[in-house]
Amino acid sequence: MLELVDSWNELYERSLPENLAKIDQVPGVVLGFHATIDGVKAVRPAELAKILAEDEALRKEVLDRLGQVPLEINSPADLVIGLLDSMQKGKALQLMIRSEETFNWTMDKFGYDRLRIGGTSGNMANYLAPLGFAKILVYANPLTKEQAELFIDKPNLFVLVEEDGKFVLKPPRKAYEGEGVYAVHWIFEYPTDLKVKIPGLELTTPRANRYIAAWNPINNRLQVREDFKRGLLDRAADFSHFVISGFHILSENYPDGSTYRECLLPVADYLGQLKEAAPHLKQHYEFASIASPKIRQGIVDLILPHVDSLGLNEVELCALLRNIGRASLAEDIEAQDTIQAVLAGLVALMEHTKLNRIHLHDLGYYLCLQQKGFVPPKQTRAGLLLAATLAAARSLTGRIDDKADIKEGLGVDLSPRGLSRLQALAAHLEADQGFLTEGIASYGPYDLVFIPTKIVPKPVLTVGLGDIISSSAFIIGTME
Ligand code: ADP
Repeated sequence: MLELVDSWNELYERSLPENLAKIDQVPGVVLGFHATIDGVKAVRPAELAKILAEDEALRKEVLDRLGQVPLEINSPADLVIGLLDSMQKGKALQLMIRSEETFNWTMDKFGYDRLRIGGTSGNMANYLAPLGFAKILVYANPLTKEQAELFIDKPNLFVLVEEDGKFVLKPPRKAYEGEGVYAVHWIFEYPTDLKVKIPGLELTTPRANRYIAAWNPINNRLQVREDFKRGLLDRAADFSHFVISGFHILSENYPDGSTYRECLLPVADYLGQLKEAAPHLKQHYEFASIASPKIRQGIVDLILPHVDSLGLNEVELCALLRNIGRASLAEDIEAQDTIQAVLAGLVALMEHTKLNRIHLHDLGYYLCLQQKGFVPPKQTRAGLLLAATLAAARSLTGRIDDKADIKEGLGVDLSPRGLSRLQALAAHLEADQGFLTEGIASYGPYDLVFIPTKIVPKPVLTVGLGDIISSSAFIIGTME
């Protein structure tokens, strides 16, 4: 075991300078379509108790319906029920707010402690820009002053603007239109052991977690701006990678009778056009937890056929397996929690989607399957190693201001869970000794790449780690 640890630590160290140098060679990265404003709010029991004490009808409704979490938030009671449910279980929960009245009510009663950048694309922009990529283009709509100022101020971070019939790249702070906070994703954060006492209910949070209640009427339908669509087609030659995400805020149905399908179809059509016009642009879809099986299915049917690569965690893999009619594989992963079960699930998803690449990240390891010939597996591994070092550095220090900071991650220990999965996988594949130290194998029509990752025991910050892992692994791992 000790030899294995030394060998992987050595590989992490040896590959870092080359991988850091690769960052400078990436022509440009596009991030769409999900940049938002997060309103971070620490849950304060006294404040919650006061809000409920002031409104007896609300308190009664909340208590009557507690335990039945609504699919969406249409009233203040829905909002509070979601919050209390998440707190009671210590489980993360995300719901969309669908009524403007409830948005106003929440702003009025709770407000927020501070605003910060949010959304998968927004987070990726702020994590990736400091690493020094030549160009990061982020989609943000509406780009108000408030939203623009939440983006990190870096000379390589841009939005796309149409000026005098020309598409130009401009820093967000030089391109915003108007002021205002039109969309807020509330992040209600609570610590372990927080006690809430209201007449009729007492609860103590079993663990720290967060409840997200999001009001985002524009992006809720994923109407990508026409000028952005045309602009990206026009400037695609400037970019090499496109990381797509954000469909988790769609609704199954809208008040006008339309559905998520009408939202997905134009985006799918656009991604198809982009692929045709700019086949060099590698496209990755970053999966997020999507509660609705219908919307997940829409993504499988309409979006995945247009992209090369998919990033997800083990929970999201199980959800997708249920969608593609392979529930028993999902049950195996959940019940057995073995690398064999995870691999079987990934293979089924590869077969169904015919994607070029799927990268799964789990605690302690990453596993990537890709079609042979897509990119050399050693390059894929380079991307995974960089992503793991970056994730470790960020968990350890809470911030990455420059790509030199990534090396902090090298000092973090390899995960025992990841190492034992590596050994189990080697045995399962009946692989030769080389696999244990290299993490690369041929598996049917696929190249398989596995790395044990470095896990920080007491992380300073874990928000958005999945996004940073998937995006950096994809970008560096698919560089030719
Ligand atoms: P999120 O939605 O918060 O990004 P994900 O489940 O998508 O969460 O991603 C979290 C990933 O981050 C895990 O799969 C794991 O690989 C990595 N990770 C989690 N905790 C740590 C840690 N303490 N140190 C390093 N990596 C971590």
